[in-house]
Amino acid sequence: MKITDIKTAVVAYHGKATLVRIDTDAGVTGFGEANPDAGAAAIVGLISELKSELIGEDPRNVEYLWEKLRRKHVFSGAQSGIFLIALSGIEMALWDLAAKAAGQPLYRMFGGKFRDRIRLYADCGDGDGPAGSPEGCAARARRMVAEGFTALKFDIDDLEHPAKFDAVNHTINGAELRSMVERVAAVRDAVGPDIDLCIDLHARYDVPSACRIASEMERFDLLWLEEPIPAENVEALKQIRMRSKTPLCVGENLYLRWGFRELFQSQGVDVVMPDVPKCGGLSESRKIAHLAEIYYIPFAPHLVSTPLGTMATCHVCGTVPNFLLLEWHALEERDVWDSYVHVPGGGPSIVEDGHITLPDAPGIGVELNLDGVRKNAVPGYGVFE
Ligand code: MG
Repeated sequence: MKITDIKTAVVAYHGKATLVRIDTDAGVTGFGEANPDAGAAAIVGLISELKSELIGEDPRNVEYLWEKLRRKHVFSGAQSGIFLIALSGIEMALWDLAAKAAGQPLYRMFGGKFRDRIRLYADCGDGDGPAGSPEGCAARARRMVAEGFTALKFDIDDLEHPAKFDAVNHTINGAELRSMVERVAAVRDAVGPDIDLCIDLHARYDVPSACRIASEMERFDLLWLEEPIPAENVEALKQIRMRSKTPLCVGENLYLRWGFRELFQSQGVDVVMPDVPKCGGLSESRKIAHLAEIYYIPFAPHLVSTPLGTMATCHVCGTVPNFLLLEWHALEERDVWDSYVHVPGGGPSIVEDGHITLPDAPGIGVELNLDGVRKNAVPGYGVFE
């Protein structure tokens, strides 16, 4: 079996998502997804440029092809960022192809599954409105729990807060902190003590501010506080971790095993959240999960993908022992999100009751709905042309 062509499509979801199609001389086709918030033009261009290095190769040598491209292009920046996002999209399509060629669901290629259903947390943004109000956050929380979710995440960082003294620095003041506490208190009151609650700070703060926030959050028994500061300084993260009982979660802006190594070895984190179609791909994410397991750190991937990348990520979550939760972000764009695939079994969505069931169809196990892809394709990129 040989690769004969690689094509892309760019669709609207959480910015622009790039879908990757790999064709073979055996008539088997694989699909993958690369997820930059911005930079689709660069992803499409890179994939087009890498195509000549993949044509003629056996797509079932997934790890070899990934490593061949990564090593060759280290000097072009293949350690992080756009390059690795493009490579992640290619790798996902290769795995889809390899599993389809074997006639097996992807989870079986990864050694079989630990669980049948993947538990999701609902990303609730800043609530139902008025934006960021305690009432709006409580309303969103109640709505998602009624839909079957047992874990929620809210964004409480507010760069537009009227009490801010400085638009650029990373220091919180008392009024900002009070607003944060009011929101989280409203959510905790609304859902009770048994719903897992996560809070995202989007890497906006400095260490003293992060310590104040983490301490205030202790009373709400969070599952995690996400990215209180940028994740690349593990020593700074450790300062926060040592000064508060609130568990910390980072990882969506780190790449490859090497990007996570110091985090694990220095124990600067409680929960890790690589983004699978961004950090290097499916195999790389499984390796990161296994490194985390050495330190008994749970694995809770960040995710902003269409149902294709989401289901591929579920095959990773299903096949590692330390999976905790997977993000689900598509509430506001539910109809468009659901329109990108045909659901195995014919239901309206792959998400049911706050979970996704691992499919038994060969490959990733969801089929792209080309009508949905064409309808929401970003103009100027073509659809697998
Ligand atoms: Mg985040």
